[in-house]
Amino acid sequence: MSRNRWEPRARHRCEVSLEERGTRVRSAREPRGDASRTAWPFGGARGIVYLVGAGPGDPDLLTLRAARLMRSVDAVVYDYLVSDAVLALVDPRAERIYAGKRQGCHALAQDEINKLLVALARRGRRVLRLKGGDPFVFGRGGEECEFLAEHGVPFEVVPGVTSASGASCYAGIPLTHREHARAVVFATGHRKDGSSDLDWETLARPHQTVVIYMGLTRLAEICRELIARGASPSLPAAVVERATTERQRVVTGTLRDLPGLAARAGVRPPSLVIVGEVVRLREALGAFDADAKRLASRLEFAHA
Ligand code: SAH
Repeated sequence: MSRNRWEPRARHRCEVSLEERGTRVRSAREPRGDASRTAWPFGGARGIVYLVGAGPGDPDLLTLRAARLMRSVDAVVYDYLVSDAVLALVDPRAERIYAGKRQGCHALAQDEINKLLVALARRGRRVLRLKGGDPFVFGRGGEECEFLAEHGVPFEVVPGVTSASGASCYAGIPLTHREHARAVVFATGHRKDGSSDLDWETLARPHQTVVIYMGLTRLAEICRELIARGASPSLPAAVVERATTERQRVVTGTLRDLPGLAARAGVRPPSLVIVGEVVRLREALGAFDADAKRLASRLEFAHA
């Protein structure tokens, strides 16, 4: 048994069915049976959900485990952050279900996604729940696992490269550096109820890097609040749009001018905000830009 896999211990009651919810599910190929697995109380073949991080976009960043699972599942339930290049690697015979979740535009509500995963597994499907980045970093992976465990569905969690790591490496902005940042803070700019939920005092501390997920729409507020809590207006900051993809763009500036620069450049989600002295290093490490990476890989091919 692998350590990232959860198995039901007791019999769990079945309360969810696809028909009840009226979800349209296209026909999938026959699920695989595996008699060697532990008891399955719901009848038929035994299903499982693989909660897998798809990374920030570049398919080269998938884990081997993710790539293997993509070729062996019956169904895939994926978010809008999963890139087309990654989806193209999923077995074409697997049923595809789009779960959406762009801010304010959800194809399925979280509760519906949870129920869908349970219902598919109970039909004996091997389900790939594919999430952008890492499933346990602002991805509601924890909530989905709780629901699966509650309903007695076995699951396995596979980490992915979180977009902060992808953006950092592909934009030439190291998240830590002995001279500039001894800590990294990952925060979310998304708030559920409109209240100011970020701990600005902590985020404004010196000698650290702050990465804000889902922060683009609040960029002006973020910069203003950090300055109000003592951060220097000239502290370097960057926005990385569509990190690691062919369409990656990086806008750098300072807390004072970044909101204006990003607006002028028309930066759009998905984007990460990175704040800290480390942003300055991009100048020196500019060769690690996505453009340079693409050029380098073309050259590698040319010389192969
Ligand atoms: N689980 C994901 C995060 C989901 S929250 C992860 O580990 O990366 C969604 C936010 O992630 C987006 O609003 C954006 O801030 C960030 N994000 C995801 N993919 C990104 C990408 N390719 N480039 C820039 N930001 C990205």
